[in-house]
Amino acid sequence: MTNAFILRGGRVVDPASNEDLIRDVAVANGVFVPPASVPDAPVLNAAGLVVAPGFLDVHVHLRDPGQTAKEDVVSGTRAAAAGGFATVVAMPNTLPPLDTPARVAAFVADCHARAVVRVLPSATLTLGREGREPTDAIALKAAGAVALTDDGACVQDAAVMRRCLLAARAAGLLVTDHCEDFALAQGGAIRAGPVADALGVRGIPAQAEEVIAARNLLLARETGQPVHLQHISTAGTVDILRRARALGVPLTAEITPHHLALTVEACRTLGSQAKMNPPLGTEADRQALLAALAEGLVTVIATDHAPHTAEEKARGLAAAPFGIIGLESAVPVCLELLVHGGVLSLRQLVAAFTTGPATLFGLPYGTLAMGAPADLTLFDPDAEVEIRPETFASKARNCPFAGWRCRGRVMATLVAGRWAFGQLKEWRK
Ligand SMILES: [Zn+2]
Ligand SMILES: [Zn+2]
Repeated sequence: MTNAFILRGGRVVDPASNEDLIRDVAVANGVFVPPASVPDAPVLNAAGLVVAPGFLDVHVHLRDPGQTAKEDVVSGTRAAAAGGFATVVAMPNTLPPLDTPARVAAFVADCHARAVVRVLPSATLTLGREGREPTDAIALKAAGAVALTDDGACVQDAAVMRRCLLAARAAGLLVTDHCEDFALAQGGAIRAGPVADALGVRGIPAQAEEVIAARNLLLARETGQPVHLQHISTAGTVDILRRARALGVPLTAEITPHHLALTVEACRTLGSQAKMNPPLGTEADRQALLAALAEGLVTVIATDHAPHTAEEKARGLAAAPFGIIGLESAVPVCLELLVHGGVLSLRQLVAAFTTGPATLFGLPYGTLAMGAPADLTLFDPDAEVEIRPETFASKARNCPFAGWRCRGRVMATLVAGRWAFGQLKEWRK
């Protein structure tokens, strides 16, 4: 066996097998193998660490091609590795957008050559992300796309959206949707309400998200095509999701760490560093999102890692672009807020980064099963870290968690048997 090694002494937390115990994990030729099959392999010391299946982040903007001053395939995937993510799903709102099989294939080839972690592309729902003509879902899937989304924009015309869902159904591709009614959101910078009024910017009402989420429920019910709601942010959307669950409609959702950790109040002190789309909500919204995760209504945490340059973010609250980075803060923030905060068990949190997204996207990752790709996320759940964006591998620094102290440090990330970040010392008795 080549490239074989054994991790010893770690606490193995694997939601796929409901396992939480200290045992050896062995890797050979990029996949998991029984430790007894590699008796002579070097043994590495994982004592004190949680050994989890490699984490997935299904919502990442790598900004490549076209906006590489913000981020690129190398810097974005280094950030993913440093943050504990073995697999990311890249958003297609690049320049040009990934709306043709040729563009998806070129992106796949570029990632194959340069990416530090596994990158799975999504492609656009409509040509040019213009919301008018569905893309060729079958050809996009053949080129490697794992989902369709116009993220950053949203198909406004329900009849066009219905045609997109039927095309996706024929291809067997998941649709993930950034829910935003443009007329309701028009010109807004942060959530409508007293904070927007006090800061003198236009507000975005919660209904801008909820109107589209409700439309998607109705269209998913009628077409039978699964629709995944990206970065949900309001209590009303949680209600819509609960209604979908009761009706048996294939509507799912993801929640970001920032919508779980922050409210619109953060805009008062952080300004544009707390400006993202959908905007931060109220404390009631935040509590509804925490409850949705805790009860298993939502099974996916995704970062919506959205890098921008410092110059762009310095334009003031009204004019700065939407979005914050998340890859290198997500795991510590979620461990502190959700696990140490008593919202989720450690196993539930690991599931939200592994089996939750892997099941939704139908991916063979996020598991320690023998023969599966050897992806691992190793972290110390109790080690305190200070979040310092100036140390990030990402090119961007637009992080609202700067200065936060969290218990939870990512120590190493393994992707298909290779260390993408960190490494362990040899085991000595
Ligand atoms: Zn979005
Ligand atoms: Zn996004």
